[in-house]
Amino acid sequence: MYIIIVGCGRVGAELARILQDGGHNVVVVDKNPDAFKRLGNTFNGVTLVGNGFDLDTLKEAGIEKADALCAVTNGDNTNIMSAQVARKIFNVPKVIARIYDPQRAEIYRSLGINTLSGTVLFASLIRDKLIESQFSSYLIETKELGVLEFRAPEEIVGKLIKEVNLPGELLVVTVVKKKTGTVIPTEQTMVEKGDILIAVVKISALKKVKTLYKIG
Ligand code: AMP
Repeated sequence: MYIIIVGCGRVGAELARILQDGGHNVVVVDKNPDAFKRLGNTFNGVTLVGNGFDLDTLKEAGIEKADALCAVTNGDNTNIMSAQVARKIFNVPKVIARIYDPQRAEIYRSLGINTLSGTVLFASLIRDKLIESQFSSYLIETKELGVLEFRAPEEIVGKLIKEVNLPGELLVVTVVKKKTGTVIPTEQTMVEKGDILIAVVKISALKKVKTLYKIG
């Protein structure tokens, strides 16, 4: 994917390295040229000095052909503006904004902006480490399993969740339904149009699962 990262701070630089290691084309934008030092000397993507919501800067970063933009500066307003410019003006298919303030994150999410609140995420991870039996972060830390969220493709609408599961490779643990909300599937749970499935997946089977269920 061609991905623009706005903000080369601690999060942006780490994200840039991870995405580059995954074989993606990365362009990093920051208003402070010194920030690019965080990328280290193995980074071979593009860096651009400029403001993260400036149209000319974003055009120079290649936003017209970008598959995704992640706005991860330390300013919620900057990130929201950058995300909105990417969505509304340039129709970038995947846009994510980092938001510090959890309440604002919730409001923006309800407006259709894909936000991640590091504050909530980090607090939850610390809770998981502190309190026994709440091991959601365990999945993130292992390199063998991951959590996959995807919209049910037409081919599986009308099937039972147990028919969607792939033994040893994919287990659907949650279904987000428009009408009834979030459910843990039972033997009888059926996939309906518009359902979002959340599943635990074996990383080695990720490619197969993505092809089978038309994800990404
Ligand atoms: P950190 O708090 O470590 O994640 O760093 C945030 C980064 O965002 C810093 O490198 C800032 O220079 C950068 N930043 C803040 N505002 C803007 C902006 N409007 N446009 C581009 N980069 C920005």
